[in-house]
Amino acid sequence: MNSPDLPPPTLRLQLDSDALADNWRALNELSGSARAGAAVKANAYGLGVDKVVPILRKAGATDFFVAHWSEVPAVLRHTAPESVAVLHGPIRSDDAQFARAAGVRPVINSLHQARLWIESGGGPCDLMVDTGINRLGLPLGAISDPLVAQLEVNALLSHLASADEDVAQNDRQLAAFEEAARHIPAKMRSLSNSAGIALGKNFAFDLTRPGIALYGGVPRPELASVIRQVAHPQAAVLQVRDLTVGDSVGYNATFTASEPMRVATVSLGYADGFLRCWSGRGSLRFRGAELPLIGRVSMDMVVVDCRTAPNICEGDWLDVPYSLPEASAITGLSQYELLTTLGRRYLRE
Ligand SMILES: *Cc1c(COP(=O)(O)O)cnc(C)c1O
Repeated sequence: MNSPDLPPPTLRLQLDSDALADNWRALNELSGSARAGAAVKANAYGLGVDKVVPILRKAGATDFFVAHWSEVPAVLRHTAPESVAVLHGPIRSDDAQFARAAGVRPVINSLHQARLWIESGGGPCDLMVDTGINRLGLPLGAISDPLVAQLEVNALLSHLASADEDVAQNDRQLAAFEEAARHIPAKMRSLSNSAGIALGKNFAFDLTRPGIALYGGVPRPELASVIRQVAHPQAAVLQVRDLTVGDSVGYNATFTASEPMRVATVSLGYADGFLRCWSGRGSLRFRGAELPLIGRVSMDMVVVDCRTAPNICEGDWLDVPYSLPEASAITGLSQYELLTTLGRRYLRE
């Protein structure tokens, strides 16, 4: 049976492709003699690999990082396998088999992973050394293990723990990485994420790995003037209603009208990544008018005060203000969470 064509959804995520390409170019420029790659894990931080990877490739990016093996096929629709590295690395031999079959590079993070990779036949890989984040990566004490010498290392990686802060840990990790690089032969070295790029040229090495700043995040003030907003969510009005004095709105009646007012119910909820911490904070916009959020955010809906736009109708599109630094200040969510929780119900265009 043919299913009928779906009507357009009541949520859309407009991707500013010029801003995305400009952000990559700006980060590539700031990386000096290093080239900028791109972290596209978690569906390109929620924005959609199918949209993001082609734009980044056109801008000039040739090195893409995902976290999971399951994220590989989507990226391979848009780029060659040699340009893809998988940060979690092979945990089981199935992972190593998949890497070989797909032609993508595993990032080796431990002696366990080194052994799996070599036993599966070896070949080019990236190697992550831990220089102080103590999360994923080969401990420095293990770099002289004979297994490591057997690896064919394309890029030697490490990851900064606190690049968004001015703390001594950054220089300590830099020194530890330089030391590791003296012992491990590799075609390339790569240390910096988005924030690390802003720490200066000596953090750039040969390849940088920006993620959040590509997508409009500003992890350090130095980036504020060069990074532009990329994701612009919009949600449609489902219903307009008039409240009288004493009417309450939403779950647990956290808002009560103190005067007659018109409100609109909007197709945007915590299932769309608009989490409950937005309850009663901030506003949506309709052609420049500010419509404060009132009451609780529910799974599929929020309610806004539309006294500033009384002519609003069912189906009208409202802008969801999503400048990441500002939205982070309003909600207390990180800029990363604001993007990666966006959910599946948006038409990504
Ligand atoms: C996610 C990730 C990045 C990108 O970090 P941002 O802070 O988003 O720029 C870089 N390197 C590794 C290893 C990562 O896991």
